[in-house]
Amino acid sequence: MTIATPAARPYQHYVYAYPHKTAYRPLDGHPAGRPLLSELWAAERTDALSLYIHIPFCEVRCGFCNLFTRIGAPEELTARYLDALDRQATAVRDALGDERPVRLAATAFGGGTPTFLTAAELERLCDIAEKRMGADLRTVPLSVETSPPTATADRLAVLAERGATRVSIGVQSFMDEEARAAVRPQRRAEVEAALGRIRDTRIPVLNIDLIYGIDGQTEDTWRASLDAALAWRPEELYLYPLYVRPLTGLDRLGAAAPPGAEATAEAAWDEQRLRLYRAGRDQLLAEGYEQVSMRMFRRADAPQEGPGDYACQTDGMIGLGCGARSYTSALHYSFDYAVETREVRGIIDRFTATEDFTRAEVGRFVDGDEARRRHLLQSLLQAAGMERAGYRARFGSDPYEDFPRELDRFAERGWLAGPADHGPLRLSPEGLAHSDALGPELFSPAVRAAMAAYEVR
Ligand code: SF4
Repeated sequence: MTIATPAARPYQHYVYAYPHKTAYRPLDGHPAGRPLLSELWAAERTDALSLYIHIPFCEVRCGFCNLFTRIGAPEELTARYLDALDRQATAVRDALGDERPVRLAATAFGGGTPTFLTAAELERLCDIAEKRMGADLRTVPLSVETSPPTATADRLAVLAERGATRVSIGVQSFMDEEARAAVRPQRRAEVEAALGRIRDTRIPVLNIDLIYGIDGQTEDTWRASLDAALAWRPEELYLYPLYVRPLTGLDRLGAAAPPGAEATAEAAWDEQRLRLYRAGRDQLLAEGYEQVSMRMFRRADAPQEGPGDYACQTDGMIGLGCGARSYTSALHYSFDYAVETREVRGIIDRFTATEDFTRAEVGRFVDGDEARRRHLLQSLLQAAGMERAGYRARFGSDPYEDFPRELDRFAERGWLAGPADHGPLRLSPEGLAHSDALGPELFSPAVRAAMAAYEVR
C-alpha cells in the first residue's frame, strides 16, 4: 500500500472521546471562577446518566500506555484515594440535588487497573457507587477492567457478588515474547489462569483486549493470539493498533532510532498494522463475531448487556476519581492530566488532599458546533453508523449541511458505505479500517489548536 499524504496515514489518533483531554484547560480563568457542579448540572437531564469511577493504579507500567496511572501505590495511598472518592461522590450527589429523578443507567470501574485494589477495597468502591451515588449495581450494567495478575479469585468473587456484568482484561498478546516487546512482561500460563478464574465467576460478559503492530509480530503469531483468545469464547474482543505515544516506555526505547529511517519505518509499520487488522477482522467475522467499531467485536450470540438506554453521544456522564471525565451538555471536565511518573504522583496526591469537590477543575466548554462534531464522530465511528433523522431531530440540520467538505472527502476516499441520500450514514469496511485517520479530520480547528499547544508532561 502507498501512503501518499499525511491525511491518508491510517494511525493518527484514537478518538475514544471528543474533545480529547489534551484540549482541556484549567477553568479558573472563567469569569465566574471555577464553575459550581450544582450550577453545571442544574438544567441537565439526569434520568439516564452513566457513572465511571477511575482507579489510577497499576502493578506495572506497560510500554504502550499513556493512561493516567501510577505503579506501586502503597496501601496507605489506596485507602486515602478511596476516602477522597467518597468525599467527591458525596459532593457530586449533593450537586445533582433531589428535585428530579437521578438514575444511573450504566456503571464502570476503569483505570489504571481497578483490581489493583484488594477485595476489601473493591467492596468499599462498590459501596461508594451504591450508597453515595445511588447506583443500583445489581440491576444496571457494571463493567470492570482487570489485568492477569490482579484478577484473583477473591476480587472477582466480590465483583460478581456486587453485580458486575462485564470484565475486561488486557492481555495484549498470548505470546510471551510479544508481551515482553510491548513492555508488558507476563507469562501465557498466568494469562490463561486468570481467564479461567474469570470464567469461573460466571460474570456474563468477558472482554479480551489484544494489540497488533508489536515489534516482531507476524500474521501467524497474531492469528495464534486470536486463536488463544477465541478458545475462551469471549463475548467481546477489542483489537487495538499499537501506538507509541510521548513519554511512554516504548517511546523512550525508540528514541535512539537513526534519523531518516523514521519515515520508512513508519510506512512499514502502518502497512503491518493494516495487514494485521484486516487478518484479525476477517478471522473474527468468520468465527461469528459482529464488528461494532474498528476496535470492538461482539460475539453474535452474546447476551445483551442491561437495558441499553444509555447513549454516549447524547447522555451525561459522571466521572469520579482524578483521571475520570464528566460530561454535561455544555462542559466536559476532569482533573489535571499527565503521563510522566512524577507529575502523575503529584496530581494523585493533590486529589487525595482535596476536601472541596464542589467545583469543576479543568475542562472544555462544548458549544453547538462541537456538540455536532461529537455526535457525528462518535456515531460514525460505530459500524452501525448514524441515523440522519436522529441528528436532524437533535440539531435541526442535516450532517451534509454541517460537514459537506469532510463527508465529500470521506466519500471520495471510499470511506462511506452506500448512497449518501438514504439509510444511515455509515463507514465502508475501508472507512472503518481508517477510523483513526477519519476521526481526527472531524476535530474543530479550535480543538486541534488546543491539542497542539498542550505540553505533554
Ligand atoms: S495498559 Fe492498563 S495495565 Fe498497563 S499500565 Fe496502562 S492502565 Fe495499567
